[in-house]
Formats: sequence, structure tokens, C-alpha cells
Amino acid sequence: MKTDYKINKKTETVILTGAGISTDSGLKTFRGSNGYWKEYDVKELARYEAFQKNPELIWEFYKKRIEKVKKAEPNKAHKSLFEMEKILGENFCIITQNVDDLHQRAGNKRVFQMHGNILKAGCIECKKKFKLDKIDLKQDIPLCPLCKSKLRPDVVWFGEIPRFMDEIKNKLNRVNLLIVVGTSGTVYPAASFVQIAKRNKADVICINLDKPDNYRFIDEFHPGKAEEILPKLADKWLS
Ligand SMILES: [Zn+2]
Repeated sequence: MKTDYKINKKTETVILTGAGISTDSGLKTFRGSNGYWKEYDVKELARYEAFQKNPELIWEFYKKRIEKVKKAEPNKAHKSLFEMEKILGENFCIITQNVDDLHQRAGNKRVFQMHGNILKAGCIECKKKFKLDKIDLKQDIPLCPLCKSKLRPDVVWFGEIPRFMDEIKNKLNRVNLLIVVGTSGTVYPAASFVQIAKRNKADVICINLDKPDNYRFIDEFHPGKAEEILPKLADKWLS
């Protein structure tokens, strides 16, 4: 493993995380779905049209995922990102494609969840959002405590607009170092973040099991599990 990169307190550092960092905590990706849900095309379930057609089915699917997220624990990769934020403060942020709360539970404060948060629900009528611990999840279709309309999982579905795009673009226009962790770089717009960072002369480091599709934009690639590689690299960068 070779890296001569050094991070100091002034290095504007952006971390982009994807499913791979949560896989190390035992959370499967959509593609890794098995059992009962295998007969469904998950890409067909994660859409508003599917929710309109059969909200009970969609909630059944999400309740299973919610249970798994609640049981999962942040791993060493999440924890090393918290160590980085402690040192870098304002000059650090995480953009995540993940809908779990493992970054927050590791202690990170500056987290942009571009695809939403599975531990919240939003009302389809009054648009209010609620933490799930305020909601009765035993209902087949959980209802809004305020207006009694249907609640939906507060995640960004296929065809919906990712969140925090202005904040993310602002960050990427100032970034010195972009570290991509556990994402294949195939899903836009996240895949384009690497290109924006490169255009702004940032260094790009990637840690992922497989070589990402946007490999040509990456300065250093470290193949392997985030949980094993990131803590070691973070120690070196910050030493
Ligand atoms: Zn409502």
C-alpha cells in the first residue's frame, strides 16, 4: 500500500461513501438482496409509482431494511472518518449515497445524505418529516401523526432528485482532496463528483473492492475492504 499524501488542517477534504463501507458492517446492497425479495426487482420497488400502487408492500420491504440498519454497528472505516473530522473540522465533510445512519453513529456531524435517511419517514401530503421512533411502525402503512395521510420512507427513489446538491457542488468547487470509499462510481450524479473534483485540481483517492469505472480520474486506487484499508491510510495521511 503506497501513499505519500499528507493531510493538514487546511486540506479541504471531501469523503464520498457508497454501499461498500456499509457492507463491512453487514448491510447488504440492493443487488445483494436475497430470500423473499429475490423475486422482486428492487429497482422496481424503489420508485414512487411502486409506492402509490402498493404502499404496504413497499413498507414491508423497508421495515426489513430498517431492522437491519438498527442492528448494524459502525465499523473501523466509519470510525476513522470520525477521527478525521475531529482533526479537520470545518474543512471536512462526508457525502454519502447510503441511507443508513452509521456515519452519524460513528460521531460524524458533517454528513450530506444525498439519498435520504431510512430512519425517517415523510408525509406525502403535509410533507412533514418524522424520526421513525416517533412513528408506529406496526401499522401496515404508517400514517402521519399530524394529518393521518400516508407516510413514505424518507429516501430518494429512482427518478427523484438527490438532496443537498448545491451544498455538495460548493464543497467540490473548493476541495483539495476527494476520497471515494466503497462505491463503484457508476451511479450519477455521484460519479460526476470525481470529475468536478479533478477539474478543480483536487487529488482523488479511491478505496473499493473493484476498480471503479471512472478509474482514469483517480490518482491513487487502493483495492480492498474499506474497513481494512481506510484506518491504515488515514493514520498515514494525518501523521
Ligand atoms: Zn401529514
